[in-house]
Amino acid sequence: MSRFWSDVVKGLTPYVPGEQPKLANLVKLNTNENPYGPSPRALEAISAATGESLKLYPDPNAEQLKLAIARYHGVEARNVFVGNGSDEVLAHAFLGLLKHPGPILFPDITYSFYPVYCGLYQIDYQTVPLRDDFSIRVADFARPKGEKCGGIIFPNPNAPTGRLLPLADIEALLQANPDSPVVIDEAYVDFGGESAVPLTARYPNLLVVHTLSKSRSLAGLRVGFAIGHADLIEALERIKNSFNSYPLDRLAIAGAVAAIEDHEHFERTRKAVIATREKLVADLEMLGYEVIPSAANFVFARHPQHDASQTALALRQRSIIVRHFKLPRIDQHLRITVGTDEQCAALVSTLKDIVGS
Ligand code: PMP
Repeated sequence: MSRFWSDVVKGLTPYVPGEQPKLANLVKLNTNENPYGPSPRALEAISAATGESLKLYPDPNAEQLKLAIARYHGVEARNVFVGNGSDEVLAHAFLGLLKHPGPILFPDITYSFYPVYCGLYQIDYQTVPLRDDFSIRVADFARPKGEKCGGIIFPNPNAPTGRLLPLADIEALLQANPDSPVVIDEAYVDFGGESAVPLTARYPNLLVVHTLSKSRSLAGLRVGFAIGHADLIEALERIKNSFNSYPLDRLAIAGAVAAIEDHEHFERTRKAVIATREKLVADLEMLGYEVIPSAANFVFARHPQHDASQTALALRQRSIIVRHFKLPRIDQHLRITVGTDEQCAALVSTLKDIVGS
């Protein structure tokens, strides 16, 4: 605390990202990175973009990237917004679309950055409790008559639970809330969900947010994007152009275009993650874990007889890191990123020592 801090800074409770330890030989299953690495074509494109041209600013509109994303998703470039990681895209969505007189709504168990953005932008919010099995009940997002709703946001699949809400339920939500902006954060959708992007053509209040950090294995490049009606995209552009004209550098634009266009690498690696996830779930269940059905590149599991924070600590002492949240309703769960087959096998055999088989 310093007397030079603004009142806004004094009131902030910042997000705490999963740690990025510098230790060698760590089995790192704590931040939902993709173990297979980026498309070799993306790496080549990044190398090719590294040169004299870095003296010039990048394209402030990242037009080439918007076109590649638009082609891939069957929309127009004017329906695409790109940002420095989907966290930045989400931040702009909070300020540009979700800041209204009525409180915005998100699940009580969800991506823990959402309340942080509400703190930063002084947005009123209410949480909507998930069912006991951590599924979302769409009807619970309806407000009593006369009460305003400033907007709705949640990840699908949800984080950190991994649970998927079927597309039909998303459509029911949109039909029930035509006057509120609805933001669906599809950071993990490529690992088992059906994207809501096609619904953006029919629902002008829907914004779908994606990232290249997970299924494209480019967390280090920082690229995210949103797809929606051109009017919603314009709101994000207005914020971006009042904040940072060049959120994506030349390397990020080049690498992201090549990654989006490498269908073969994308399909092969995401299918490998899905196959390993299914094996990991079966192995964890053999050890007595209860695992939430996951459509993401992580699983959320609890053991009825073993305290989650102690297990996380014991794993850590054996150089395996997973994520544990000290939060209501989920403090007995561990969130485990799906790594390679070898990493998951190391996790399972170590857990066997810790919890017994
Ligand atoms: N949404 C969700 C649900 C996430 O878990 C994450 C990753 N922490 C993000 C968005 C942000 O990802 P990125 O900024 O790397 O695109």
